[in-house]
Amino acid sequence: NSKIRSDLEIAQSATLLPITQVADKIGLTENDMELYGKYKGKIRFEALHALENRRDGRLILVTSMNPTPLGEGKSTVTIGLGDALNRLGHRSILALREPSLGPVMGIKGGAAGGGYAQVVPMEDINLHFTGDLHAITVANNVLASIIDNHIFQGNKLGIDPGRITWKRALDANDRALRNIVVGLGGKGNGVPREDHFEITAASEMMAIFTLAEDLVDLKEKIARTVVAYTYEKKPVTVGDLGAEGALTVLLKDAFQPNLVQTLENTPALVHGGPFANIAHGCNSLIATKTALKLADYVITEAGFGADLGAEKFFNIKSRIGKLTPTATVIVATIRALKFHGGVNREELYDENVDALREGFHNLLKHIETIKEFQVPFVVALNRFITDKEREILEFEKLCNEYDIPFAVTEVWEKGGAGGIQLAERLLAVIDQAEKDHSPTFYPLYPLDISLEEKMNVIAKKVYGAKGIELSPKAERQLRELEQNGWSKLPICMAKTQYSLSDDPNKLGRPKDFTIHIRQLKPSIGAGFIVAYTGDILTMPGLPKHPAALKINIDDSGKVTGLF
Ligand code: ADP
Repeated sequence: NSKIRSDLEIAQSATLLPITQVADKIGLTENDMELYGKYKGKIRFEALHALENRRDGRLILVTSMNPTPLGEGKSTVTIGLGDALNRLGHRSILALREPSLGPVMGIKGGAAGGGYAQVVPMEDINLHFTGDLHAITVANNVLASIIDNHIFQGNKLGIDPGRITWKRALDANDRALRNIVVGLGGKGNGVPREDHFEITAASEMMAIFTLAEDLVDLKEKIARTVVAYTYEKKPVTVGDLGAEGALTVLLKDAFQPNLVQTLENTPALVHGGPFANIAHGCNSLIATKTALKLADYVITEAGFGADLGAEKFFNIKSRIGKLTPTATVIVATIRALKFHGGVNREELYDENVDALREGFHNLLKHIETIKEFQVPFVVALNRFITDKEREILEFEKLCNEYDIPFAVTEVWEKGGAGGIQLAERLLAVIDQAEKDHSPTFYPLYPLDISLEEKMNVIAKKVYGAKGIELSPKAERQLRELEQNGWSKLPICMAKTQYSLSDDPNKLGRPKDFTIHIRQLKPSIGAGFIVAYTGDILTMPGLPKHPAALKINIDDSGKVTGLF
């Protein structure tokens, strides 16, 4: 439909406030900000320290059912909900992830919301923004070069070149870089070895960046990061190499949270961006904590479905950051419900009530998961203009049948005005939970059970699996992790986002399946053990028709095709 304006067109015609005025709304002065042009700024460390003794606002997590490859509008709903709460007179702030250029140039396009619920300036946020991803990439790669140089210069630590676990990173989808050889060209050019690239959003440096409390903690986390093993299989850390100071310096500006605004001028902290399928999937802890000091309601998002983003938000981020989420919004779409009911991608926009009923079981599983964490919730149906009236009615009927609190949102089409119902429903649910003195948030597993038990808890309670099965390699790695004394860490599952199982083709609510743990990797700096299931990759490739090929610029500098 040619009358529908693209996200970029809407964003380009928005009236933005100077960022100092947005800062003013949350009680920050120009002195508190490091300005990056007129519409972007970073909040300085001094300003963050000054907030320390303030009371925290309420934390709302937006998650979703298992998405289709197009995304179901979590960012869009998060932004629209923030705008709606502001319209209702509540001070709200958004805490969102920074987009990675992988998806922007790849399949999904931008990640700054959509329609009339966006954060702006949209092109900046989606492209280089304030340079944070660049800084993280450089810190990552300086470390890689320090490791290779250490070996080249005599290898005092006795690093086994075959056991370097630190990879190089790039913020792009580039499958050709997954496995490479470095150090070729003769003796003066380093020690030849197999090396690997991962996308910055999947790197441990990104995870560390997003889980650090402050600069001191950032440096400590970097120092304890294990990057290689010696010939005697002893772990080698960044601290052993003495590089934590330089790496922290490289990150110091990036580490200050970025302030931008929505189309309706609601303040938004957009900071840090780990993927949720191969990393922990939420914006920086420092941004979330800052937001909690600055507003009554902080609306944040964790990537992909509740099986990935929300699970890790609760079990990893909230635990490490001592956060207490107040409530959850679970986003569903008619198209995802039909997708999980077996409809193929080409027919997703045709009316199909039966498939919708079938696919509803996927949503039900995610609701059960959120209940396991004892967090009150509302289901938000993110309405598309292609949705059929009968489908919406069926959805409402199903929600009523199962006694699920829900609201239909039209924030994509109407901005904050389209999210009023959701905001009111959410406030009512929070109110009720507080009146009832309902039990509050609780992580799903304690840290002192074994790593294997933790993986089993996630597989059974969150995915609905029978249990886990370790590959012989993972078995061996598990013993090594235990011997190194790393059993007390939480688990960061790396799993496909499309299915509750580790097989992207098992849609809906699969039953009687096993989660295959292929490999385990210690991320000691970030503070978790990554468990790789199925065929999940840490360096994505571009699709057949990359989004990049639709992006263009005219001679006045106006960008088109970014969505
Ligand atoms: P997620 O955060 O769940 O990955 P996004 O909010 O990024 O999803 O939305 C994915 C894409 O879908 C974006 O291009 C967005 O503009 C579009 N979108 C979201 N909600 C709607 C809607 N209600 N109608 C049409 N397009 C939408």
